[in-house]
Amino acid sequence: LVSRENHAERSIVRVGGVPVGPGTMTLIAGPCAVETPDQTLQAAQMAQAAGATLLRGGAFKPRTSPYAFQGLGEAGLRILADVRDETGMPVVTEVVDAADVELVASYADMLQIGTRNAQNFALLQAAGESGKPVMLKRGMNGTIEEWLMAAEYIAQRGNLDIVLCERGIRTFEKATRNTLDISAVPVAQRLSHLPVIVDPSHSGGHRDLVLPLTRAAIAVGADGVIIDVHPHPETALCDGPQALVNGDLRELAKVVRALPPLV
Ligand code: PEP
Repeated sequence: LVSRENHAERSIVRVGGVPVGPGTMTLIAGPCAVETPDQTLQAAQMAQAAGATLLRGGAFKPRTSPYAFQGLGEAGLRILADVRDETGMPVVTEVVDAADVELVASYADMLQIGTRNAQNFALLQAAGESGKPVMLKRGMNGTIEEWLMAAEYIAQRGNLDIVLCERGIRTFEKATRNTLDISAVPVAQRLSHLPVIVDPSHSGGHRDLVLPLTRAAIAVGADGVIIDVHPHPETALCDGPQALVNGDLRELAKVVRALPPLV
């Protein structure tokens, strides 16, 4: 279903009316985690001023440590919905448990399935039945084939509104948080008709890598990028070192505008 064999044209997925697909170079930005109404609104306004058309933000956070901030849950979803009302930006947010899909889908415009759940088949199937578009991140240890087969689990439940997201894989390299597999973008686009975006924030794990990795994503023909931003990264409850602040974001916006997307 997700293969290009029976679907030669590359697909465009609409998220609350915003297109993601060939030629769109969609900018998705927002806080890694929703912390407070103010922080989320400020991050959304920064993102929107830089040209972002979709707001990201996690209310359910899949953290390595059980002692780390786990997200605000439904209270976070309510904040995202309020910020959407205020800014008009459709919301992309992660769901980590099949039992929460209905709840998250009642607030979100697109469900995000994160790297740690990339082969959680019950979750993939539930997302496939949610009636909402799904952004599927590549598993950090997953091959491209495993990623596409994970997408197939969603598609099999009748949902072809899937956006693939390359977010870096585990390698021996420790200088970056993950190794951005830039070649995965054209490979996935050759094998699948689904849009493919890149997450330079979770790939690099450092603010200063976000701009160069965004350039790489655009140059290789990605259909969009998803970026962490925070009004005060030094106090962020999640992934502050990779969050862009206003100045960086303006620079990134210039790059996105200057480099025409490949179609
Ligand atoms: C995220 O985007 O908030 C996230 C946790 O990403 P990943 O699943 O790629 O680590």
